[in-house]
Amino acid sequence: MRTWDVIIIGGGIIGLSLSIALRKRGARVLIVERGEPGREASYAAAGMLVECSLETPPALRPLATASAQMYPEFVHELQDESRVDVDLRDDGTILLCPPDHAQGRAGFSTENQLPSPLSAFEPALADPQQAAIFLKERSVDPRALAAAALKAAKHRGVDISSGRAVTEVLISDGRIAGVRTEKTSYAALAVVNCAGAWAGDFGPQRFPTRPVKGQMLSVAGGPRNTARHVIRSPEIYLVPRSDGRVLIGATVEEAGYDKRTDPAVIEQMHRAALRLMPALSGARMLEAWAGLRPGTPDNLPILGPTATPGYFVAAGHFRDGILLTPVTAHVMAQVVTESRPDYDILAFSPTRFQL
Ligand SMILES: Cc1cc2nc3c(=O)[nH]c(=O)nc-3n(C[C@H](O)[C@H](O)[C@H](O)COP(=O)(O)OP(=O)(O)OC[C@H]3O[C@@H](n4cnc5c(N)ncnc54)[C@H](O)[C@@H]3O)c2cc1C
Repeated sequence: MRTWDVIIIGGGIIGLSLSIALRKRGARVLIVERGEPGREASYAAAGMLVECSLETPPALRPLATASAQMYPEFVHELQDESRVDVDLRDDGTILLCPPDHAQGRAGFSTENQLPSPLSAFEPALADPQQAAIFLKERSVDPRALAAAALKAAKHRGVDISSGRAVTEVLISDGRIAGVRTEKTSYAALAVVNCAGAWAGDFGPQRFPTRPVKGQMLSVAGGPRNTARHVIRSPEIYLVPRSDGRVLIGATVEEAGYDKRTDPAVIEQMHRAALRLMPALSGARMLEAWAGLRPGTPDNLPILGPTATPGYFVAAGHFRDGILLTPVTAHVMAQVVTESRPDYDILAFSPTRFQL
């Protein structure tokens, strides 16, 4: 029976990117994906690379900053290898805030002032007088990013098994031996659980990940460049793509593994977007969808070795998995290949849940 150095469970953006980082270190890698690679949370995401928001837990900020800095190089490499354009945009974010929050928000300084009046900077906004902050954040198209990572992984010789779920992680003599699917078994020296919201579904350790549903929609075909920047308001966000689409999101719901969209909720978000930017009424609704963010009890990812020798986890990236992809791939490849990690990931250890 063939043995891989590393089996990765789950072909989302985290598993795909880690597979590439491991191949670069010479490992023979197999991804075992239940469905089609890159079609779950990584397909549903908006792709904002939010380095620091009021929701970002302080413990996550160093990794978030490191990952944001790694993005241009990460994307350059993926695009080069895959020939897929992932639409990395560098136009920044306008954060619209309630008037009483405009001044002196913790962590925001003079460099967060808009470079020009809002009416000139984002002319299509309904209210050019509202309080706003500028953030030098990028955005990316996560669907294209996952497609690029899949192509690059194949190009680098990563093996991929799609269409069968891992049902069991195999242990022999107290250490990892491989994985079993409904159909067959695969042997490996190390296994990394990158199964996103499903990471807790199989043993030997049950990680406390849970699905956090997000519904979104996109519109297209309105006047070109209606929205120039990512716009985050207390109610919704708008994420423009270079092909003219504008994404509108997103709900945050505890709804189990339900990925259905609710037309009333989609309509509500669409209306909120039109209130924010009336010119979007010239755009037609393109698509509505829902995805499952991998949540954890403390909103921090789960990264590192488990109590079972050879068994690792990189899951639970909640609302920031697209942002955290480069640093996760980098540091987890170091951990799995027993190199000294460049970043301290102790705060994200699976053992914090005393499994
Ligand atoms: C609506 C929405 C908006 C978002 N917006 C942003 C954003 O703007 N910026 C940002 O940084 N993040 C955002 N996120 C979060 C981001 O999408 C996730 O954190 C990230 O995609 C997680 O990647 P992943 O590879 O861990 O999970 P996934 O992409 O879900 O991949 C996990 C994979 O594991 C597979 N799998 C599961 N169980 C098994 C099994 N038993 N055997 C084999 N395979 C299995 C699944 O089929 C899936 O392909 C958003 C998420 C949603 C839902």
